[in-house]
Amino acid sequence: MRAAWIGLGVMGYPMAGHLVTRGSVDMTVYNRTGAKAAKWVETFKGRAAVTPAAAAKDADVVFACVGNDDDLRQVTIGSDGAFNSMKPGALFIDHTTASASVARELHAAAKARGLGFVDAPVSGGQAGAENGMLTVMCGGDEADYARAEPLIVHFSKMRKLLGPAGSGQLAKMCNQIAIAGLVQGLAEAVNFGMKAGLDMEAVVDVISKGAAGSWQMENRHKTMIAGKFDFGFAADWMRKDLGICLDESRRNGAPLPVTALVDQFYAEVQKLGGGRWDTSSLIARFQNLDKK
Ligand code: NAP
Repeated sequence: MRAAWIGLGVMGYPMAGHLVTRGSVDMTVYNRTGAKAAKWVETFKGRAAVTPAAAAKDADVVFACVGNDDDLRQVTIGSDGAFNSMKPGALFIDHTTASASVARELHAAAKARGLGFVDAPVSGGQAGAENGMLTVMCGGDEADYARAEPLIVHFSKMRKLLGPAGSGQLAKMCNQIAIAGLVQGLAEAVNFGMKAGLDMEAVVDVISKGAAGSWQMENRHKTMIAGKFDFGFAADWMRKDLGICLDESRRNGAPLPVTALVDQFYAEVQKLGGGRWDTSSLIARFQNLDKK
């Protein structure tokens, strides 16, 4: 199996690594900043290419994990994009969190060139990527997914085809909508408890075992209490994702009042200088008020 990987960021770097160490894939990588590709090649077996097209040329499967819709268009249908060089019958698997419309657009462009395309955004964060324990939400044709699944398995604990092209991105939107309000609720609870003079570590120890328990409560309460946000899933990325959700809701008519509000709270976090802070930094808005 010859594969190519485009985008060795926080997520892509370890995911591509798992394909080599667990999947024994023969890998060529491309990263816009060449130093990251050189480091990856030093760590794992494989080669680095200077453009997405050069990386994808002989590959049976090409993966991508870049930033947003425009980045994705650039590395696929752009002048040095992978679609220009992929061989007929090859498959493109996209792990970027992007819009459903760009997934449908690239699915159609891929089919027109005799290629397969699966949109496959992920959840589970940096730790999930490093441990190979991501959740992968997929959209596309059944035959393409059947080829993708045995590879995705190397860095995921859960994966599923959820419908035609764009369905993976729509499922990821559900994921982000569900997280947005939950993190704000958790920030309010932790801040409230601290104001009330409670030992919030002890409180969370109890309430996390009841109906209020969540991944965010388990994994983020300690750093929320400490006011530490220099890790994890960046507020800038979350605003990109919530923007995608709000755009889609204008099309399908589903009201997203809490999501819209929390999006504005993240805009405030960005103004506090927290664009790269973890999404749990919603509590920083309250901590900042206390300083005033
Ligand atoms: P990241 O660390 O910022 O990495 C982004 C990668 O994309 C880098 O390799 C970057 O290259 C490359 N890239 C961006 N724009 C490009 C362009 N126009 N042409 C070529 N390469 C380009 O981001 P990440 O955290 O890995 O996230 C990647 C995707 O996964 C995003 O869509 C994000 O929303 C999603 N995601 C992230 C997490 C998380 O916890 N981090 C969780 C779930 C989903 P350079 O190295 O040159 O900058």
